[in-house]
Amino acid sequence: MAKNIRKPAPRQAPVPKKKAKAVARPKPAKKPASAKKSLKAIRPWTPAEIHEVFSRFRKANPEPKGELEHLNPYTLLVAVVLSAQATDAGVNRATRELFEVADTPQKMLDLGEEALRDYIKTIGLYRTKAKNVIALSAKLLAEFGGEVPRTRSEIESLPGAGRKTANVVLNMAFGEHTMAVDTHVFRVGNRTMLAPGKTPLEVELGLEKVIPAEFMLRAHHWLILHGRYTCLARKPRCEVCLINDLCRWPEKTV
Ligand code: SF4
Repeated sequence: MAKNIRKPAPRQAPVPKKKAKAVARPKPAKKPASAKKSLKAIRPWTPAEIHEVFSRFRKANPEPKGELEHLNPYTLLVAVVLSAQATDAGVNRATRELFEVADTPQKMLDLGEEALRDYIKTIGLYRTKAKNVIALSAKLLAEFGGEVPRTRSEIESLPGAGRKTANVVLNMAFGEHTMAVDTHVFRVGNRTMLAPGKTPLEVELGLEKVIPAEFMLRAHHWLILHGRYTCLARKPRCEVCLINDLCRWPEKTV
């Protein structure tokens, strides 16, 4: 009898695996040339270069002046409080007449909030600012003998005064080596890479760290003036910039 030989089941041809559909991965967005350059090519500043920057500022303008008009530490404090989100020129137009009648905290209180509002009504946020000036004048009389205090924490405790106000007053009225960071100083600190930072405080601390002490009293003014008249926000005037050979901004136009 023939053996019942079981034939092996025919091998099934392997089903070709479906090729996974190639999913086109998005290519990483190309960084703009300037950004690439900014990451790669920026050489850290040397102390000698930073000294050179401020030596040039000093040579060009040995006695830089702030542009906010004032008569004494109190009127400086008031002018800085009024200058938030306003131009110095606009503040000066209003304070010229105001300070003729109110250049001390007591005279400001005597003038009163309503009349003060009238003097400063051309300045943005004048209602809030008038309230703050009256309140800070009252506080100066009640707690500081009518004088502007000399410490940061005391100045910052006054209504309407923040860190920038304290830095301006400490620097301009009392000769302290502080660095007030406004929009111009913030831009110049970042563009030049002297003190890059995401916040005004980061730029302030960065600048304080790198600027030699001999320049610190006036550095605030030099940087503001540089930002206001040369390193302009939209179209910096690199071609006439005193420090264009040293500046680290990848997009400088020289
Ligand atoms: S070179 Fe141009 S970007 Fe650099 S600090 Fe001067 S003006 Fe500003």
